[in-house]
Amino acid sequence: MSLAHGRPYLAIPGPSVMPDAVLRAMHRASPNIYEGALVEMVADLIPDLQYVAQTTARVAIYICNGHGAWEAALANVAEEGDVVLVPATGRFGHGWAEMARGLGIETQVIDFGTKSTFDPAQVAAALEADKAHRIKAVLATHVDTASSVRNDIAALGAAMRATGHPALLMADCVASLGVDEFRMDDWGVDVMVTGSQKGLMVPPGLGFVYFNDRAAARRTELRRVSRYWDWTPRGKPDFFYEYFGGTAPTHHLYGLRAALDMIREEGLEQVWSRHATLARAIWAAVEVWGQGGPMTLNITDPSLRSHAVTALRLGAPHGTRLREWTAAQTGVTLGIGLGMTEPDDPKGTGFFRLGHMGHVNAHMILGLLGVVESGLRALDIPHGKGALGAAAEVISGA
Ligand SMILES: *Cc1c(COP(=O)(O)O)cnc(C)c1O
Repeated sequence: MSLAHGRPYLAIPGPSVMPDAVLRAMHRASPNIYEGALVEMVADLIPDLQYVAQTTARVAIYICNGHGAWEAALANVAEEGDVVLVPATGRFGHGWAEMARGLGIETQVIDFGTKSTFDPAQVAAALEADKAHRIKAVLATHVDTASSVRNDIAALGAAMRATGHPALLMADCVASLGVDEFRMDDWGVDVMVTGSQKGLMVPPGLGFVYFNDRAAARRTELRRVSRYWDWTPRGKPDFFYEYFGGTAPTHHLYGLRAALDMIREEGLEQVWSRHATLARAIWAAVEVWGQGGPMTLNITDPSLRSHAVTALRLGAPHGTRLREWTAAQTGVTLGIGLGMTEPDDPKGTGFFRLGHMGHVNAHMILGLLGVVESGLRALDIPHGKGALGAAAEVISGA
């Protein structure tokens, strides 16, 4: 018997759960895009967007998803003949590199596989070898949503600065902003890209590119920049229509206002620590399940695990079976494995992911874990006993 009727829960790593406050804020008549409340509201959004990234950098807002933000950022810092260096740790570094190649930018990829973090020393060595300074930027993924590894952007920034190489540090925080600790200015990040639909709790459709003065100076060296992606008019909203390269994404902006209010009210440090504790509850449960069965966490070192998403291996075809069962029987949708395969599992049916970014709290995570446990039982997938108790222990000690 299906027990799925009731409020559905999308526990995939983006789009994330939308708060009712965000949906309510978006449910309104069309506002004037030339003057009045909407125009005033956007000026107020920027300081809060800066707060979430701990920066004084400028923020350009685009009507696009994360892929668009990737391209927007690249279009302002590199052109044909330039090189970007990409330490890849899963799927998303490779994706950003593909975007660069599409713009005629040469890419130098250092592949760190799907189970580990990148090594800042290897990136620094590649920069040191580039005596001609053809490398214009390092494209670093903060949290790789496929592998669920969290890379140390601060260490990378320090290693890059120690080389004296002028390449910009660009960070992909699509999965991590508003979830995992990120300090753009302290960590020496020049450009940061993110999207609306993960930690920021707004429907997909807004891309953000943060850029500091070093990055803005680099932009002026390019021969041309695509008019739509050019961040210059967007960094300074003199004229609202131009700021968005055309009509503003009216309703998304109202949703974003509500989401940023929620983050402000909770406090960014508290937002980070809520996610950290909820992630620890998930890991505690998975470790117990794994003691009596095949489930394993993709990233073994807890200090390298993201607090936004957890990639898990259950063995083919159990990842897919579990997802199908929870969706049909419980109203919870789990994330597919992304870019993870094994020789005997070319389609990656043995993998799945849990998204736990944004509008999630203790009861949702305990419910999520309860549903996974029920699925393991229903499908006769061996697992250790006592996982929910282990998660409750983490939550009760918080
Ligand atoms: C989701 C994600 C993207 C891509 O965002 P889209 O909105 O799907 O284009 C890029 N990078 C990371 C780290 C992501 O998690």
